[in-house]
Amino acid sequence: MRTRRAALAAMATAASLALTLTACGRNSSGGSKEDKGSAKGGTIGIAMPTKSSERWIADGKNVVKDLEAKGYKTKLVYGEDDPDTQVSQIENLITQGVKGLIIAAIDNKSLNNVLQQAADAGIPVISYDRLILGTKNVDYYASFDNEKVGELQAGYIVDKLGLKNGKGPFSIELFAGSNDDNNTKYFFNGAMSVLKPYLDSKKLVVKSGQTALNQVTTLRWDGATAQKRMDDILTSAYKSAKIDAVLSPYDGISIGILSSLRSDGYGSGSKPLPVITGQDAELASVKSIIAGQQTQTVYKDIRKLAEVAATMVDDVLNKKTPQVNDTKTYDNGTKVVPAYLLQPVSVDKSNYEDVLVKGGYYTDAQLK
Ligand code: BGC
Repeated sequence: MRTRRAALAAMATAASLALTLTACGRNSSGGSKEDKGSAKGGTIGIAMPTKSSERWIADGKNVVKDLEAKGYKTKLVYGEDDPDTQVSQIENLITQGVKGLIIAAIDNKSLNNVLQQAADAGIPVISYDRLILGTKNVDYYASFDNEKVGELQAGYIVDKLGLKNGKGPFSIELFAGSNDDNNTKYFFNGAMSVLKPYLDSKKLVVKSGQTALNQVTTLRWDGATAQKRMDDILTSAYKSAKIDAVLSPYDGISIGILSSLRSDGYGSGSKPLPVITGQDAELASVKSIIAGQQTQTVYKDIRKLAEVAATMVDDVLNKKTPQVNDTKTYDNGTKVVPAYLLQPVSVDKSNYEDVLVKGGYYTDAQLK
């Protein structure tokens, strides 16, 4: 695993350099419109899942910007977390004659029929961030090392609690993402691979008893749903005990969990907030980390993801083979989809300034 990771990381660095160089080359030669050949002036359809989370709003903007820089027009749609809406949006994009599709699925199994229509019309499909399942009609996958996201979250909990130094036992509760999102199991399995030895040795105890993926998922990654589940767990399993850590897969879920904990008196006096993880480095969560509430998040540079996806569709339309760095991991049930995976980074109070501010993701003023 480690060797594969190291190789992946090296390839990712080289490829990201190549992407940067390509982008610079195009810019400095006065834009790419003139040298786009067959794809010149075509429209790319972009289907994003929801505007209820900041990251997807930024993803949409970034992909549009990168495609326009490559000489394309774009049509960007948001499915508001309703799978049927997303299917009809994609049907409309196909009818409108888009040349390529970039799709972040809401329900990864619901796109089979509509992607057959795309294939019949000769439209290439890039699966964006979330793998589309059960169809051969998905050409490439652009994402992050999703298992590593879970490893970073769980590794953070292990470090923060001092489990490697023999401390414990501690209580922990587990939350996972939406059961219709293929990423959910990668995040959860990555986390459980790190937590399992401590759960086995009872240095970590899940007092609710809910440890199986199907007991801990959160439909559509909804913060209010997670808040309700945390309320129920606190009432049933923590009347006389204190919770030390919460594995949360996503910042919006972490915010819901924090509300529940605070209503139960955590964060004041003798009840410190537990260690609580997250994902996406959303503004509200980074502010919460700075304020000492949420403890950690996993930052994924979605500017790079957009660049990868835009480059993939551009390459396919120009009959070039897109660069990939993983041809084994992402089997969608019908085929292994060639993928380009970027690296996630763990962020907490100690490094947000270096990673997020110096990295140009947020300004200090935004975080005030
Ligand atoms: C993405 C995460 C995001 C989650 C909820 C997942 O598929 O990979 O970055 O937090 O969806 O939107």
